[in-house]
Amino acid sequence: MKTSSAYRFDLLSAAWFYLMLIPTLAFIWQAVTLNNLLVSLLLFWLTVCLGHSVGLHRGLIHRSYTTSRLFRNILLYLFVHSGLGNILSWTRSHHMRDYWQNQPECPPWFGYDHSMLRDYWWNLHTRYTDADMEKYRMPDHGSDPFIRHLARYGRLHVLAACGLIGYLWGWQTMLVLYPARISATILGHWFVGYMTHTRGEKRYHIRGASVQGTNQWLLGLISFGEGYHNNHHAFPASARMGIRLYEIDLGWYALWSFRACGLVRDLKSATEETLKPSAVKCEGFIPGSGSRIL
Ligand SMILES: [Zn+2]
Ligand SMILES: [Zn+2]
Repeated sequence: MKTSSAYRFDLLSAAWFYLMLIPTLAFIWQAVTLNNLLVSLLLFWLTVCLGHSVGLHRGLIHRSYTTSRLFRNILLYLFVHSGLGNILSWTRSHHMRDYWQNQPECPPWFGYDHSMLRDYWWNLHTRYTDADMEKYRMPDHGSDPFIRHLARYGRLHVLAACGLIGYLWGWQTMLVLYPARISATILGHWFVGYMTHTRGEKRYHIRGASVQGTNQWLLGLISFGEGYHNNHHAFPASARMGIRLYEIDLGWYALWSFRACGLVRDLKSATEETLKPSAVKCEGFIPGSGSRIL
């Protein structure tokens, strides 16, 4: 393995996560009502479906559709309020993960050949760093002033929203709308990532890749399409993650509606054009006796 790489304790991300989680665990039962829970779910859809999945993942990282700079920025601003953290760290670690998972050998951090507990520690408390960044061939999002601003001050925007909501509607509403939603989002994102690399349906096999994603229907449904992760490994440039009719992909439906309104165009779907050249159709489940290549 490359000696230029290392796992480092990520104090800011870990502190941020517990800053959200601990007050939630301590006070959620005194704070939750049906009304604030429904508003929190609406914010969850706006920030995770539109912000994270559509804006950041399918848009900025994979460029699976075209949109105006204004609409892109609105979606990225929604991502900031998901509370998932620094937008540039996210794009960086996504490109590093993609690079390594498609190599025959992969550092353990991205390899998923470890327990859920270890993954919890690594994913939520450390980050993977590499002095040799050239090989990842990442786009230079840091040169965009809006993205740079979000990367630098995104968490302050979240804290400012907490202050404003607390001042206007009280701490109970603030707790349910922000720290509770954010800690659930961070935990949910980690859990979906772990599960969709370790067990579930594997419909495509990427030749020469050390890690294959898996599809999990229920996780795909509640993560707005992100849980159809084997499809995503096979069709990385596709804006559509749920391919079969029963694979409900709320992120794709949102994009489809945006296209109908003229907000996005050139939506890429799961076709021959977006199929990774090294992907072959297979049949199988992980773990088990392995996949049968068709
Ligand atoms: Zn991706
Ligand atoms: Zn993956």
